[in-house]
Amino acid sequence: MPQVIVAGAGPVGLLAAALLDAAGVSVEVFERSAGPSRNAKAITVHPRTLEVLTVLRTTGGQRIADILRSYGTPLPRAHFAALPQTLDYSCLDTPYPFVLMVPQTRTEKVLADHLDHRGVRVHHNTPVTALEQDTAAVRVSTGRTVHEAGYLIGADGAHSLVRRQAGIAFPGSAPSAVPFVADVVLAEPRPTASHYWNRRTGLLSVLPIPDGLNRVFGAEVTDTQLTPQQARHRHKQPLTLPVLRDTIHRITGHTLDIRHAHWLSRTTDENRHADRYRTGRILLAGDAAHTQLPAGGQGLNVGLQDAANLAWKLAAELQGWARPSLVNGDHSYTRERRPVAEQLTTDTLAQGALMHTFTHGGEALRAMFCDLLIQDTPTHERLAGWLSGLAVAYGTAERAEAGHHPLTGTRAPDLAVREGSLLRTLRPDRYLLADFTPAADFSTLAGPRVHVTSARPRPGAWSGLAAALIRPDGYVAHAAHAGTEPDVTAAAVTTWTSPHHAA
Ligand SMILES: Cc1cc2nc3c(=O)[nH]c(=O)nc-3n(C[C@H](O)[C@H](O)[C@H](O)COP(=O)(O)OP(=O)(O)OC[C@H]3O[C@@H](n4cnc5c(N)ncnc54)[C@H](O)[C@@H]3O)c2cc1C
Repeated sequence: MPQVIVAGAGPVGLLAAALLDAAGVSVEVFERSAGPSRNAKAITVHPRTLEVLTVLRTTGGQRIADILRSYGTPLPRAHFAALPQTLDYSCLDTPYPFVLMVPQTRTEKVLADHLDHRGVRVHHNTPVTALEQDTAAVRVSTGRTVHEAGYLIGADGAHSLVRRQAGIAFPGSAPSAVPFVADVVLAEPRPTASHYWNRRTGLLSVLPIPDGLNRVFGAEVTDTQLTPQQARHRHKQPLTLPVLRDTIHRITGHTLDIRHAHWLSRTTDENRHADRYRTGRILLAGDAAHTQLPAGGQGLNVGLQDAANLAWKLAAELQGWARPSLVNGDHSYTRERRPVAEQLTTDTLAQGALMHTFTHGGEALRAMFCDLLIQDTPTHERLAGWLSGLAVAYGTAERAEAGHHPLTGTRAPDLAVREGSLLRTLRPDRYLLADFTPAADFSTLAGPRVHVTSARPRPGAWSGLAAALIRPDGYVAHAAHAGTEPDVTAAAVTTWTSPHHAA
């Protein structure tokens, strides 16, 4: 009996399984489809996702982030709402100051190969059909076979059966726009991104993507401002190559010489968000928990961060080293990740409005937004921080109010530590205590779940620290200024590693 069953071998399910396995948890994945998906879907991997993938390594010691990077194209700028003014990632404080253009199919393959080498079983052609749970276990049916496990992760996409059968509501806003997306071979491939708006006809964007393809996406004016019924009906209409050619001609007045279409699809701006991410022994992650307009390349990345937040907490719960607040309280998976998806909702609705408002007002809004991105550094930095995933933080306001160090809950940068780099030293089955003191004052706090290492002081927000306790997912659990009593850090380590301590 595996400790955890994952429903869905999409990117989120695969990463959750890989991180659980790395934390020493036995896990099996059940996937409905017969084999890997051939549709690229997401093509952008943001810096924070690459940081998370650095923690995972193959049995040969290679980092999954390095493997993925070898297949992709790094670009120093990311787009927001397809606006011509892009976001600069080149000065972000990360080993990955770029957006990696890599098809989702490749990300899935890299993760699936990793699981295969690790001996983690991914059962294709095995849809989860029913589930039930009690206080001791969860029972998952795949047809007539019933499997028992400690926990079930529903990473089974936007139409999640796990979510429905677990009785978790999925409220949100109905679709009103039906954009098109296609990966095509052009007679003359476009080496750089181009975006075309016409107030009377619509939007067309053309982006270069790996493997010699271009992604063509946009929306006709007539496919926006729809009623939910109209949008659902339109979404069901197949997009064929002749239809795409005609659509592009109607929008731009020109022909785009498409030789071949690799993938043709319609999507919507339907925005939904699970009202809970957990009920008992059943948890949701990725599109099963939140779905939105695919804009700015965020669905995949936010889903993968869900997996990173969840995996170590579940491992800690199973292995008996989770403090109670990780399971049900302030630091729980739901409490930390729901606000991120709420922000994702706001962000993608705003991008949808910027992209699909074909009026004089829409034109003015786009112009004003571009101007803000050029002139207003805080706006630019704020959006780049959010989109890259690097500025996502957990409960920082509440913790600052409670008198904790301002770094508490923020993502730790890639500190220089004795072993080399923080990201390459983090593991999903233990905390890392970065000791900034010259005399290694905190070495005695090392234990089975706490790796203590010396860290090089940094300028800026990280200056003047004595110690920082970093969670397995790279966020600051506790930080202490130089001069703080060492007992304060010792108490924090005890709190974070002792399941019997109250939150
Ligand atoms: C056109 C398009 C473009 C996109 N572009 C981007 C982008 O540029 N960047 C970005 O970040 N995101 C993008 N996204 C979103 C991104 O693709 C999704 O957010 C991502 O696939 C979510 O991953 P997931 O693992 O949660 O779900 P999915 O990828 O949907 O995987 C769910 C898996 O569960 C399986 N499954 C379903 N039901 C069952 C069941 N009952 N039992 C077992 N298995 C089951 C499915 O077969 C599937 O393999 C795009 C999406 C679309 C549609």
